[in-house]
Amino acid sequence: MIQNVIAFVEHKHGTVRRVSFEAATQARALADKLGGKVHAVVVGDGAQTAAEALKKYPVDQIHVSDDTRFLENAVDALETVAKAAGNGLVLVGNTMLGRDVGSRFAARVDCGMNADVVDFTTDGGIAAVMPKLGGLVITTCALDGDFGVAAIRPNVFSAKETSGAGEIVQIPSSGKASAITVEDEVEEAAAELGVEEASVVVSGGRGMGGPEPFTTILKDLADAFGGAVGASRAAVDAGWVSHGHQVGQTGKTVSPPLYIAVGISGAIQHKVGMRTSETIVAINKDANAPIAEFADLLVVGDAFAIVPELANAVRDAKA
Ligand code: FAD
Repeated sequence: MIQNVIAFVEHKHGTVRRVSFEAATQARALADKLGGKVHAVVVGDGAQTAAEALKKYPVDQIHVSDDTRFLENAVDALETVAKAAGNGLVLVGNTMLGRDVGSRFAARVDCGMNADVVDFTTDGGIAAVMPKLGGLVITTCALDGDFGVAAIRPNVFSAKETSGAGEIVQIPSSGKASAITVEDEVEEAAAELGVEEASVVVSGGRGMGGPEPFTTILKDLADAFGGAVGASRAAVDAGWVSHGHQVGQTGKTVSPPLYIAVGISGAIQHKVGMRTSETIVAINKDANAPIAEFADLLVVGDAFAIVPELANAVRDAKA
């Protein structure tokens, strides 16, 4: 039976991804309910730096391995920590790396893996909650047995720093040679900032009337803030913008300091993907649009007049 929770920490040369802080925070909440401990596992180049950052989060033990093997080492380290604890739910981010590591660990210890987890229940044992079939159904999957893996959707769970300082424990190097040869490390081309990482998201909806505003006025406003362009499903389904920009139940979940919804009515399926944003500003020509009920500020008027003016005002303020 699972009592302990183990957060796998994703980082780049020591800079920890936000989803791993979310995993560590959620791990504490679950372990407290299940009566277990919270462990974090950090491997690879920069692991010591990442472990120091983890100390601000409510983790009991931070296990660090500087072994230069990466994927194999991550799975070995998780196995070592989980087996020493006797049981454990491994939390990874629902990211490329998180799913890769999580599924390898699940195969290694022969347990199940749940992807795109948005919630947990703990009544009578732990279960993972996940939307399926494009959000049409919500499934609850019991995590029986001693081990399990849950890949948590980024930006759904909160990341809260605490005063707790986790103990750093070194995992001895295995001395094994890697079966993987890294021939070259290539920096990703400067990709557009994704909605999940941006501190300001400017999203457009059906009220934009076509694809052009997504590459002109919305992009211009997002650029003025140094942010990213998001979209409602109506805009994505119309083919105006790609699915990677979609915010909501069947898109990305975002939680930026500032979310600007332009020509978006505020349907519940959109709201669940952005409601945890710190400040929500809506620009809508309908004063009674549902978004008025949960926006911090509603600007009533034509987006095509307001958005360019707002972009200019932001640039002026920054000058
Ligand atoms: P509308 O509801 O048509 O609203 C357009 C708004 O634009 C209106 O409020 C209008 O007043 C305003 N407007 C029009 N012209 C202007 C103008 N010139 N200036 C200012 N305002 C203007 N939706 C999502 O967004 N994300 C999801 O992930 C998602 N998942 C879903 C999953 C399921 C299973 C289902 C059933 C639905 C899902 N939806 C999702 C769809 C959701 O129910 C709504 O249909 C959708 O969010 C509506 O998009 P919208 O607000 O852009 O369009």
